[in-house]
Amino acid sequence: MIRSLKAAWKYLRHSKEAPEPLVAYFMITNKCNLRCKMCNYWKGLYPKEVSTCEAKLILDKLADVNIQILSVTGGEPLMRRDISELLDYAKHTLKIPYVRLQTNATLLTKNLIPDLADCLDDVWISVDGVGTMHDYIRGVQGTFAKVEQNIHLLNMVRENGLNLIVNMVVTNYNRDQKNMVKQLAVDWHADHLFYHDVANVKAEESRQFSSEMNVGNVYYPDRRGCLILYSNLMINPLGELIPCGILDKLVVGNLLEQPVMEAWNSQEMRLIRKKVWRGLLACKQCCVPNTTLRSRLDDWFNLSRLV
Ligand code: SF4
Ligand code: SF4
Repeated sequence: MIRSLKAAWKYLRHSKEAPEPLVAYFMITNKCNLRCKMCNYWKGLYPKEVSTCEAKLILDKLADVNIQILSVTGGEPLMRRDISELLDYAKHTLKIPYVRLQTNATLLTKNLIPDLADCLDDVWISVDGVGTMHDYIRGVQGTFAKVEQNIHLLNMVRENGLNLIVNMVVTNYNRDQKNMVKQLAVDWHADHLFYHDVANVKAEESRQFSSEMNVGNVYYPDRRGCLILYSNLMINPLGELIPCGILDKLVVGNLLEQPVMEAWNSQEMRLIRKKVWRGLLACKQCCVPNTTLRSRLDDWFNLSRLV
């Protein structure tokens, strides 16, 4: 909590320097078995990924600065054969308090699920519509059926406290399916539902929808500054630090070569904080900060539950 306040204070003061980060997003691969329309990772955005040893070295460094929430993401993290080993290392060896897996849920299996559940606090699953709409956006037929089947498998082990989060990227393709996805989240006993709204919707309409549905909303047309840059760090598959998932072409440090705080407050990262305060085009319609903040509040205080 104190670190969260420190991050907010630095953010409000427009500081170029940030306190120790609270949350780490680790994109451990850019390989993926799906072909989503809005995604570049499966096209091979990065030429390689960190090895098991290198991934552990980075996890060690994150634990050294007391990361509170580790979100393992990709690409599709389950494409890595060492995924259980890495999650086990983070949760049980390093004792990172909250460990999340972001997955498309198609590669979950009966054998894998108990091992994963033992290391995870939540599973974050992307659903972009029902049936053929999900398959269309994800670029592979049969994906929705696979996700549904695997969520039923997952639900069998969830009594030991594993949370399920459903995430929908809302675009002009699927915006009329928001309510259907909400119903799915209820049917699947999800703990939370988040919309990442990148559709060209009007701010007022989006806010109204949010208050009706009691879900995280996402549209801030005149954003200045970004709290994410003071609390959440993001690591790409090469082990490099990037400011956020949207500004993923900008490298501000390298966690294979530097301690976390050196990279986190590097000259390049300070410059990004300054530029974002002045207003970057990429930030204007960005859905990340509010959704992430809401997610973090829910993680810590269990403020709102969907079901
Ligand atoms: S599942 Fe995720 S990583 Fe894979 S193609 Fe879709 S958006 Fe990209
Ligand atoms: S693109 Fe989004 S997450 Fe990244 S700095 Fe801008 S507002 Fe923050």
